[in-house]
Amino acid sequence: MSEARVGLVIEDDQDIRELVRVVLSQAGFDVHVASTGSAGVTSARELNPDVITLDLGLPDIDGFEVARQIRKSSDAYIIMLTARAEELDTLMGLEAGGDDYLTKPFRPRELRARVEAMMRRPRASSESKGVPEEVDPEVSHNGLAVSAGSRTAVLNGKELKLTRTEFDLLLALLETGRIVRTKADLARRLRNEPYDVGSYVSDADERAVEVHMGNLRKKLGDSIQAPRWLETVRGVGYRLAPSSNN
Ligand code: CA
Repeated sequence: MSEARVGLVIEDDQDIRELVRVVLSQAGFDVHVASTGSAGVTSARELNPDVITLDLGLPDIDGFEVARQIRKSSDAYIIMLTARAEELDTLMGLEAGGDDYLTKPFRPRELRARVEAMMRRPRASSESKGVPEEVDPEVSHNGLAVSAGSRTAVLNGKELKLTRTEFDLLLALLETGRIVRTKADLARRLRNEPYDVGSYVSDADERAVEVHMGNLRKKLGDSIQAPRWLETVRGVGYRLAPSSNN
């Protein structure tokens, strides 16, 4: 079953825009480009892309704000491309809705590897794109109903708007219950690597997991002190909070 995957490149620098466009094309994407933040937000809404690369330094709107606006309409995988290597910037970008980031100059091969790892993660099924519906393995925990098949999380009758990364982290905890998952473990999970490979996970990757978990906690309305879902195990990682009876 082959369907054209759509990529959107939001970048004002023509050379980098072309480079990224070529990388995504080679990875099998139908690629669209935008050279300003406002054009990018509009294209994200109209094209419903699978992957977006987002330059943080755009001429009109700040890249963080672009990410926030895109998140209102899209669950695309957002890779931020930043010339600013400061950790604070990358963490702010993740808080604004980015999934991952690369610092310029980056190697095209690295970008392609990130995109392909992401695309190996399961996607939400969507009638509009003709993805076959599979039987949903449903999981429920303390009133939160999660369907791995349709990639939905429903709380109090309302579907939560989670990014793919947030959903994947939630699912990882639901799968292993009270077993503690280290941040490195979860970072590898996001790269779609087996847990026991032991590949290198940087401090920044672990920090990124913390930011995504923080975003997820906010969307769930979960409490750090008395969690219903996301229990922090200080200095180690996370696990699913115990089941409650009410
Ligand atoms: Ca720029």
